[in-house]
Amino acid sequence: MGKSCCVPGCKSNYSSTLKAGGKSVSAFFFPKDEILRSKWVKSIRRHNWVPTKFSAVCALHFFDADIIREQTFYGNDGRSVSIPTRTKLDSDAVPSIFPSLPPNYSSKIVRLPKKSPEKRQKNNLVRNNYSNGIFEQSDLIANFQDLILHYSSKINIPDFWNVEINLVKKKFHIYLLNVSEEIITLTNQITVHEDMLVTVFLNGKKLLHNDLKWILPSDMKVDMWSQIESLLIRCQNKLNEAKKHEKHESKINREREIVS
Ligand SMILES: [Zn+2]
Repeated sequence: MGKSCCVPGCKSNYSSTLKAGGKSVSAFFFPKDEILRSKWVKSIRRHNWVPTKFSAVCALHFFDADIIREQTFYGNDGRSVSIPTRTKLDSDAVPSIFPSLPPNYSSKIVRLPKKSPEKRQKNNLVRNNYSNGIFEQSDLIANFQDLILHYSSKINIPDFWNVEINLVKKKFHIYLLNVSEEIITLTNQITVHEDMLVTVFLNGKKLLHNDLKWILPSDMKVDMWSQIESLLIRCQNKLNEAKKHEKHESKINREREIVS
């Protein structure tokens, strides 16, 4: 049986999880190095708790890049061969991913809760700091990890927009569902990829850089929280425009019907 995960809320390798059909997940014992060990303890945020020699953290809390699954051997001729090995961690890896996992997380796709009103307020405070230069520093997104860990306190996501994080494919989606038809469809979506590249779909159409050049640089990569907010605002405005146009059109059509 695998080692059960000690992260609060995570039920990896619990016998109940495995019995319910959950897959066993690689898990790692706490490192012996004291400094690294204390980083792990701090990171998993379990109150008043000291790990034992059996305490383990499962692979769901580490980035793929920190997990070694194969070993590469080099021959004298310079050719290399990679052989799958026992799953190991990079020597300085620290658990960093703590989604609120649903009870059965076998799909590995997790939905994080929407931001609370308190956080919204905090966000507004951040915005008010714009003028004195504090903003610029706090506006930077360090990397994809920073994005998925802190988006909820950094981005003001308008109502009706949803967030989905795919930890396996390393994609961060903000999307809007169209519930006005018989079948719910997804036609509006902003996706940030692991390399911070952004793709935007509006009414099912992918936006080109030309549509977003005021917000994103030509490589379409995002590095500021305010850019994501601007994208959301731009999408929302475009959708409102389209809706207004639609209303106007139907009004004209109705008038035509009356005339004829
Ligand atoms: Zn876990």
